[in-house]
Formats: sequence, structure tokens, C-alpha cells
Amino acid sequence: MDEIKRGRGTFDGWSKSSLKQLLENCSWQWALQKLGGLEGPPTPHSAAGTGMHAGIEEHERSRIGGADPVDLVTLLPIVGHEAAADAANIPSDWARIHGDEQTAVEWAIDLFTTWYDSPVRRQMLTYTPLAVEPHIEVPSPIGPHNLRGYLDWVGRDADGVLTVVDYKSSSSLSRWSSPDKHILEAAVYLYLVATTDWWSGDEPIRMEWHVVSRKGDSKILEGPTFDAEVQAFLIDQLASAQRMVDSRGWKTNPSWGLCSDRWCPFYHGCQVTGALSPESVSFDPPAAASSHG
Ligand code: SF4
Repeated sequence: MDEIKRGRGTFDGWSKSSLKQLLENCSWQWALQKLGGLEGPPTPHSAAGTGMHAGIEEHERSRIGGADPVDLVTLLPIVGHEAAADAANIPSDWARIHGDEQTAVEWAIDLFTTWYDSPVRRQMLTYTPLAVEPHIEVPSPIGPHNLRGYLDWVGRDADGVLTVVDYKSSSSLSRWSSPDKHILEAAVYLYLVATTDWWSGDEPIRMEWHVVSRKGDSKILEGPTFDAEVQAFLIDQLASAQRMVDSRGWKTNPSWGLCSDRWCPFYHGCQVTGALSPESVSFDPPAAASSHG
């Protein structure tokens, strides 16, 4: 493995990804990155997703205000450029395992073309975008950190219902058969939108995932609607995460399927040599929220 980059930890608030990594994936990996400042490099999978997202965002941004969307010929260079920029940081040994910059660009183009020709996009054209990739940051309901996120898309569906859409690229659609595994993400996004002026306070807010696979298929998966149960779940998850940080209670996760040198950039230091142990990595204390968006 190429040398792991070290820096200062950057944790100063909760996001969907941060909560998911800490609570559902590997809390030790979360600590190494967020508090220890170790960088996890991109893969062609993530770079291809970045390219696909960039194309969809440009498409949807062009529709705000009622204009026709920009066309495929205009969008494809944006997709390729964004995927290549992200993939340029793939370490050489990861490129040998997962694929290189060229792989990432080809996957990004395939994913975006699939989305462009799909029923998912045709349904999206019946929706009205209000904002593309808005950043929302508010005080966490349990403190002391902020809760924040970049939402892929916020708008109204064909029936005028306030809707959050998250785009996903995936190797297959099998992970996206049920919303149950993705409730934490939905709870964060729905809570954030409920703090904005887009929400009247007495209407439903719904969540959808628009998933595109590298096998050339796509689907829309419906998530939950914002209610007291979703909010209570989010508060419970935030409290669990805060307890783990306060107690430094994270631990390695050898049973997790992605705990291998194929998927974890810290595998050798963590599982083989133990160099990335609590004793050898100094953690900055997490900063409390200092500003509210
Ligand atoms: S090797 Fe496994 S336990 Fe260690 S940080 Fe990576 S995922 Fe976590």
C-alpha cells in the first residue's frame, strides 16, 4: 500500500456519511480518518460516481426555473472531466486492484448514459427542482455538534409533494431492494429539509433514491416520509454516535465484509502490523459547533 497520508483530523460536525461510517461500518476507520486525519483514497467506483453525480446535477440545475435540460452531448464531457479529476488521486496499488483513471471515466460515462436513457430520468422530468446540491447545516438536536449535509436534489414530485432525491451508483441493484438499510441516511436528509423554508410545516416530506447500476439498469427506491418516528430514530442514532466519541469507544471491525486490503486503505496498519493503533495515532479532540447555518 502506498504511504497513507496523515494530516489533522477534521471532525467538527455530523453528516450522513460520518454517522453511517461510525455506527454501521467501522468505527475505528471513522476515528482514523476524522480524528487522526488519515486520508482514505478514492477508487474508480467512487470516481465514477462523482462523474455521474456531476452530470445529473448539471442536468437538473439547468431545469430550475422551468427551462429545458441541457442535452447529453453537452453533459458527457462534464461527466468524464469530473470522474478523471477524482480518479487522478487513486494510489497506484489501488489502481492495480480496482482499476485506473481510464476505468473510472468509462464507468462514469456508462452510468450517466444509462441514467440519461432511463425511465428514472423520464420520471425526474415530471418533478420540479427547487435546489441542486444545497448545503444545509443546523444545530444537532442533541448538541454539541452541527448536523449537516449536501443533498443531491430537493424539489416537488409530480403531485407537488416536497421530495428529497439522492442519486446512487452501484455495481448492481441488489443492495437497493429495500429502504430499510438506508433509513439513517433518509432520517438525516429529511430532518435537514424540515429545517428549511421549503417546508411549510404541515405537509409531508418524502425521500427517494434514484439508483443506476453498472449492469445498465436503474430503479427508484422509495424511502420513508418525515414523521416523529423518523426524528426519534435520528436523535437515538446521534446520541449513540456522541456516546462513542465521548468515550473513545470505537473498535476495529474484523467481521465486516469490507475489512480487507482490497477495500480498506488502513488494513495493513490496522490488521497486519497494528501500527495504526490507539497508542500510535494521536487524535485531536473533536471541535464543538461554533456556527449555525
Ligand atoms: S482494517 Fe477493518 S477494522 Fe481496520 S480500519 Fe479497516 S475496516 Fe476497520
